[in-house]
Amino acid sequence: MSETVERHEFGAEVGRLLDLVVHALYSDREIFLRELVANAADAMDRRRFEALTQAVPALPEGAAIRITPDKAARTLVIADQGIGMTKEELARNLGTIARSGTRAFTQSLADAKPGERPSLIGQFGVGFYSAFMVAERVEVVSRRAGAEEGWAWASAGQGDFTLAPASREEPGTTITLHIKADAEEFLEPIRLQTIIRKWADHITVPITIARDGK
Ligand code: ADP
Ligand code: MG
Repeated sequence: MSETVERHEFGAEVGRLLDLVVHALYSDREIFLRELVANAADAMDRRRFEALTQAVPALPEGAAIRITPDKAARTLVIADQGIGMTKEELARNLGTIARSGTRAFTQSLADAKPGERPSLIGQFGVGFYSAFMVAERVEVVSRRAGAEEGWAWASAGQGDFTLAPASREEPGTTITLHIKADAEEFLEPIRLQTIIRKWADHITVPITIARDGK
């Protein structure tokens, strides 16, 4: 491993949330896509807004959230052209739990009887960490709009994550999920489309789902 790779521990609450999410919510794990698409849409809205008020390059014409499954590589990639994250933002946003909603969710889940847990997930936004329901490893490459350099965040969802410099041509964020062996259904374009129709109907940013690996 290159010496420019830094290793960071997750905040204690993240560890607890990851454990609960990965082990308690199997039947509802399709909502990971709702969470990642919502984040991408938020990031694009934020870039649109900051471009009006700050020295941030405008959202390109035809900007979209691109979802690309690749069965051969067993990866699912979700890419946006949104506001992106700096190194510090990656560490803070994807390494700690800042949101009261997620904290409330963690508490409700811990208090619930096992049979009650699955229905809880529909009631709360579980956020980025829900990616670990379907992925054994998650890589995020991001470049903050207005910044010159990109950063890569990576984790197997077990205690720590790494940060390293990375190249990204344009501002935005690309999330690569290395899909678990028992979650290959999420590499089927039809399945992904059904989830998007069900959960992301209200998203106003265009969403494209590539055919396998294309
Ligand atoms: P929430 O969206 O409710 O804040 P999440 O766990 O889904 O909680 O995401 C945590 C934070 O990570 C977001 O608030 C945002 O700052 C950052 N983030 C996540 N995904 C992206 C993305 N695609 N682009 C930019 N920032 C993101
Ligand atoms: Mg979110």
